[in-house]
Amino acid sequence: MQVPLLDLKAQYSKIKEDVLVQIGEVLDSQICIGGPKVKELEDKVAKFSDCKFAVGVSSGTDAILNSLMSLGIGPGDEVITTPFTFFATAGCIARVCAKPVFVDIDPKTYNINPALIEKAITKKTKAIMPVHLYGQMADMDAIMSIAKKHNLYVIEDAAQSIGSTYKGKKAGSIGTAGCFSFFPSKNLGGIGDGGMIVANDEELAAKMRLTRDHGQNPTYYYKFVGGNFRLDAIQAAALLVKLPYLEQWSQARRNNAEYYNKKFADTLIQTPFISPDCVTIYNQYVIRVPRRDELAKHLKENNIGCAIYYPMPLHLQECFAYLGYKQGDFPQSEKAAKEVLALPVYPELTEEMKDCVVQTILEAVK
Ligand SMILES: *Cc1c(COP(=O)(O)O)cnc(C)c1O
Repeated sequence: MQVPLLDLKAQYSKIKEDVLVQIGEVLDSQICIGGPKVKELEDKVAKFSDCKFAVGVSSGTDAILNSLMSLGIGPGDEVITTPFTFFATAGCIARVCAKPVFVDIDPKTYNINPALIEKAITKKTKAIMPVHLYGQMADMDAIMSIAKKHNLYVIEDAAQSIGSTYKGKKAGSIGTAGCFSFFPSKNLGGIGDGGMIVANDEELAAKMRLTRDHGQNPTYYYKFVGGNFRLDAIQAAALLVKLPYLEQWSQARRNNAEYYNKKFADTLIQTPFISPDCVTIYNQYVIRVPRRDELAKHLKENNIGCAIYYPMPLHLQECFAYLGYKQGDFPQSEKAAKEVLALPVYPELTEEMKDCVVQTILEAVK
């Protein structure tokens, strides 16, 4: 039996008619960028995330970049983040010519360890950028209290965590800004690139709207330099169809995770730790095993999809060599990079498929 890591066709087949109708409306209107569909999606995502404002943008990466630019973070500034994340988190900090300052993770949650943040703060620190990895939010109370004490912005990289909660608060709603990605493999995935920023400060949200359109206001007059970070209407159209399903899809992922957790209890497999403060959306279900590469090979040979998020922490990436980090600087991130393995957890998995994943794993670790 074949079990892919993700099967987007299975999801699409159930909503195809509705998506095609919505896209048809966009094409008939020929309002292809921004417009009423984007506005409607912004309003709905803001409401869904318990935030006052939402700004549709061209990707999760551009959500982060726009947030940094709109907050005026640039040369000479430092932004504290985790090295155990997707590249865009730190890539955007570097792109505004600020310095990414890494802090190691909590080995249980894989999220930034708040106990290590204060040591990394300098006079140049402007913001903390926690990443809610795999669908579980970082320890936001601890992060917010450090931020308040040192007068820092908090930009939540919630690209993997739309709809997840920390002490009942939605991802993106706690910090200065929250960044979502609609990359097709995220829990709320578009039919191409897309993203959104949420915020509660009206002035900041207004600046983000200008930043996504070259800083233009009025037309052909520019107060500051922005970019083309606009969201296509066709993405909003597809996302409007999908948004009402998001909660049930995320619940199906939690059910699948629960199934695996039971089957892997009392084995060598370390299952995900979810803090009692958090409800995760399981963008990824990530196990931890010492001989990870052998297990991954075994799964692939047996047609079971799996992936490593992420094989090399950012402080060891060639592009960040100029920052001067070395092997051993962030031992928990380095260890996690060698031991984590994501398994199929998408909502449409059948019991037969889950059993196949479990059996294939158990025969390998036995
Ligand atoms: C996906 C992702 C991004 C970037 O989103 P894109 O839409 O692909 O640009 C940023 N940060 C994290 C943690 C992500 O998982």
